[in-house]
Amino acid sequence: ETHKETLGFQAEVQQLMKLMIHSLYSNKEIFLRELISNASDASDKLRFEGLTDEALYENDSDLKIRISFDKAARTLSISDNGIGMSRSEVIENVGTIAKSGTKEFFQSLTGDQAKDSHLIGQFGVGFYSAFIVADKVTLITRRAGLTKEHGVCWESGGEGDYTLETVEKETRGTDVILHLREGEDELLSGMRLRGIIRKYSDHITLPIVMKKEEWDKDKSENVVTDEDETVNQANALWARPKNEITQEQYEEFYKHVAHDFEPPLAYTHSKVEGKQEYTQLLYVPSRAPFDLWDRENRHGIKLYIRRVFIMDDAEQLMPYYMRFVRGVIDSNDLPLNVSREILQHSKDIDAMRIGSVKKVLSMLEDLAENHKEKYATFWKEFGLVLKEGVGEDFSNKERIAKLLRFASTHTDTDAQDVSLEDYVSRMKEGQDTIYFVTADSFAAAKNSPHLEIFRKKGIEVILLHERVDEWMVSHLTEFDGKSMKSVAKGDLDLGKLQDESEKAELEKEADEFKELTDKIKEVLGDKVKEVRTTNRLTSSPACLVAGAQDLSGNLERMLKAAGQ
Ligand code: ADP
Ligand code: MG
Repeated sequence: ETHKETLGFQAEVQQLMKLMIHSLYSNKEIFLRELISNASDASDKLRFEGLTDEALYENDSDLKIRISFDKAARTLSISDNGIGMSRSEVIENVGTIAKSGTKEFFQSLTGDQAKDSHLIGQFGVGFYSAFIVADKVTLITRRAGLTKEHGVCWESGGEGDYTLETVEKETRGTDVILHLREGEDELLSGMRLRGIIRKYSDHITLPIVMKKEEWDKDKSENVVTDEDETVNQANALWARPKNEITQEQYEEFYKHVAHDFEPPLAYTHSKVEGKQEYTQLLYVPSRAPFDLWDRENRHGIKLYIRRVFIMDDAEQLMPYYMRFVRGVIDSNDLPLNVSREILQHSKDIDAMRIGSVKKVLSMLEDLAENHKEKYATFWKEFGLVLKEGVGEDFSNKERIAKLLRFASTHTDTDAQDVSLEDYVSRMKEGQDTIYFVTADSFAAAKNSPHLEIFRKKGIEVILLHERVDEWMVSHLTEFDGKSMKSVAKGDLDLGKLQDESEKAELEKEADEFKELTDKIKEVLGDKVKEVRTTNRLTSSPACLVAGAQDLSGNLERMLKAAGQ
């Protein structure tokens, strides 16, 4: 029995499709890139599972992607012999949106088409982009490892629902058949399709094959022959010499590995030789993905071994605070049969991670130095994540610290564009400390009474107000030989920034007001540790100060809010 059923799309899928068809129409040819990208991913998955289960290949290890068209039927097909999908996988993958970040994506939609079309690119267009040019899509698939009776035929007109039917499928893998919309006949041309493939999918490492065409004199047109021909270069882009790769090719490759729609902000491509041999092609996206804060899901680094795909999201290859990096690392040394477990204890992997982190830091340093606008974009999108590195990566702490950008009393705006080096270069004669204040908002930081004496003396203070900041400064206690100190903690000793007469004055005041401060302490009792006069304030009558060894007031508020 075929067990045909009709299922409704998840409401979000419909919303996504509608948006996509409208906002991407002017760039409609990208549907082919997306479908080829999926076919390539499916083959990668087969290779990965095939490492431990050879039988999945069913004696056909010649992986490729086939593009064909039928003028009379007005269809276009994209076929692969990759991993395929089972019935439940089809429902999960092409009936719902299971991606992380989905909720955030739909929440951020504005209803304004221009704005939303940007967001959709960032979210990833994927399979549903087929409906930009097709009014019906048929997907026939069989998962590797299942018998031929377990084929599945999925079909949809892109509106509301889809049908599922069990079918026989001889070969494993997936065929996606597009029934073109009225007016899309230009896609039924070998020349046109080859052009799109070379433009967007040249970097795909598998061969993308089409039937060769020949000029038919009698018909005065190209006719399709029986002979296969590979349309793309079908070699690993990262293994080619840099000077043979164009900017566009780097960008299209990025879009494939990162599942992104926009070009990257920067990339670094290099071959490491010597004891360890590997190639790395690493990218920084121009925008934070929706799942940046999702501990579970990420598309990070793809690991290859001698050009053979091994796995996605090889988390051992990039530390957590660099989870925004996308790309490929290809090792010449590792054995092909590595597993995630082996990776965890591999010295080769450790060495590649250390080398790759250094590459990313160099790339960021180059942006900070030579492409300030791009660096500002980077900081806006990923600054919060990079700050985690201060505590996470001890060996690169100083380099990371130099890449940090802050707001400060120098400009008094919330623009985060002050580096610690800028700060140090503006330090006053005799100043040996970098001062900062932490608060739960920029306004609170900027208006902190603790800043009064600093403002009066013209000493710059870094204004911190993000949640990660408290944690960051607990790990960043000095920079460039200067200690970093909260203006709201402990005794405020301004050292040489304060002259003798000011110090004498302070002592005199402490004596003079002793009776009063004792009295206040008596009234407040256990609520405070100590009450004393201060040089901190110029216009406010009083402020709260945390002990030098205690949690800061801000951190205490944060912990309380978190219920700890
Ligand atoms: P993404 O590729 O970013 O995951 P897509 O919308 O392009 O998103 O695809 C959704 C999912 O559908 C894929 O993650 C994959 O699981 C499945 N899929 C799509 N095309 C294929 C294919 N040709 N073979 C196997 N699975 C596929
Ligand atoms: Mg995809």
